[in-house]
Amino acid sequence: MATNVVLIVVDALRYDRVGVSSVRTPTLDHFARKNTTFTDAIANSNTTDICVTTIQTGQYPIEHGVLHHGTDVTERERQFGHGAPSLAERLKSEGYQTIAVEPVLKRWHRDGFDRFVDGVDNDDVKKTGMSGLIPDWAISMGGSILDYFPTYVQNNIREAVLNVVTDTTDGKGVTKSALELLDDVDEDPFFCFLHYWDVHTPYNPPENYVEAVKERNDYDETPLQDVFEEYGLEGTITGEGLRKRKLHGRRPETIGEIQAHYDAAVEYVDDCIGDLFEGLEQRGLDDDTLLVVTADHGESMTEKGVFFDHHGLHDPVVHVPLLFGGTDIPNSTVSATVQHVDVAPTICELIGIQELPGVGESLVPLMRGNTTEPPRNGVAFAEERHTRSARMIRQNSLKLINTLEGDGSCRYCQRKHEPSKALYDLDSDPSEKANLLNGDEYCSQVRALLEQFEEFEMGLIEPTPDDSISEYDEAELENRLEHLGYR
Ligand SMILES: [Zn+2]
Repeated sequence: MATNVVLIVVDALRYDRVGVSSVRTPTLDHFARKNTTFTDAIANSNTTDICVTTIQTGQYPIEHGVLHHGTDVTERERQFGHGAPSLAERLKSEGYQTIAVEPVLKRWHRDGFDRFVDGVDNDDVKKTGMSGLIPDWAISMGGSILDYFPTYVQNNIREAVLNVVTDTTDGKGVTKSALELLDDVDEDPFFCFLHYWDVHTPYNPPENYVEAVKERNDYDETPLQDVFEEYGLEGTITGEGLRKRKLHGRRPETIGEIQAHYDAAVEYVDDCIGDLFEGLEQRGLDDDTLLVVTADHGESMTEKGVFFDHHGLHDPVVHVPLLFGGTDIPNSTVSATVQHVDVAPTICELIGIQELPGVGESLVPLMRGNTTEPPRNGVAFAEERHTRSARMIRQNSLKLINTLEGDGSCRYCQRKHEPSKALYDLDSDPSEKANLLNGDEYCSQVRALLEQFEEFEMGLIEPTPDDSISEYDEAELENRLEHLGYR
């Protein structure tokens, strides 16, 4: 019988919150000890729509064509999203039963799934009644619609979308829904995709989890107001988000209060995954099942002046956990630099099906110790278009970040988080503070990085749109705008 596949994405889970003493993740720690852990896995972007598409397709953002996120995704990008061959589609064509519990994403991410549970249809993955107020059209119609609105309305729509993300998801419900779906699977192998959202901002795990982390750790007592003043956040999208943030109904007073809630959410999600593993075992579904755990991207706690969000290409945002487990998965720790594009090809090789198109490479030789050479000479790429346009290339400890358009100012924070062009040496400067680009001694390394980048671009495939997809038409849009009083 073919191997089942369970692919778990924990939204916004930082690499440095798993397997450390300050945050307790017994489920993932135990899983890592028995299986294969990649200690240097890089997300190829920093926002969910793009990253999940990369994980599901094994393609870089510029290959699958989805470069924007949420309401900023264009009509063309949605066609690209639908056109990119995905793991779910490939597995379905191989006779797999394909099921997903994905509370938030619901556009091309649905492609290839026989059963797809989202946060609107299912009470278990819903925390509050907010979903009835969801401007669903705001999510599904994409960026062009926002241009019709004045700025304050755009901000309200963004806020409403954030509420959808954070109020309609509960990890216990994700686990419960997935196990119910698995109760219905027959003899055929299954592919189950689960997306846990508890660690996504604004971090509202059950209060007892927050109390537990606070008892164990000392958190930063810097008043939130000081941050507002120091970083000039008044009137910015980031500032408004922080000002309106409520944790268990209360406004946080300090930076540490928010950090504690993040850590508590990580502990909560670890428990939710623990329930899933236990449920699989009880059903005898842990045999001959490949389990993969990763995060779509990380999260910036305060680094680079990015507060409790995921923008920028610094390590807290792009360095993610990546674990493979199950039958025939060796017990190993791999330090080679790998990327999200490699996840789908690795799954394909492990279960013996043909690889998807794209430049991702199977990590099986590294897992089995047949090689220590990382794919692509250890070069990793990432890019962002959401709050600014920039690209990152990294090889070993050297990391080059290059602004693609404008001066690199952040659209959310109205300031520059770093220079337009910057080179960091992560070995001597892990917090990416010292820009080495001014020193002549690094010229040859930068040239080498840029050459690697040119080589990388030559190997890319072109995005393929699915032109048959059109998710809204102008008349429908006009009707909705009129209904809402904007016409
Ligand atoms: Zn910013």
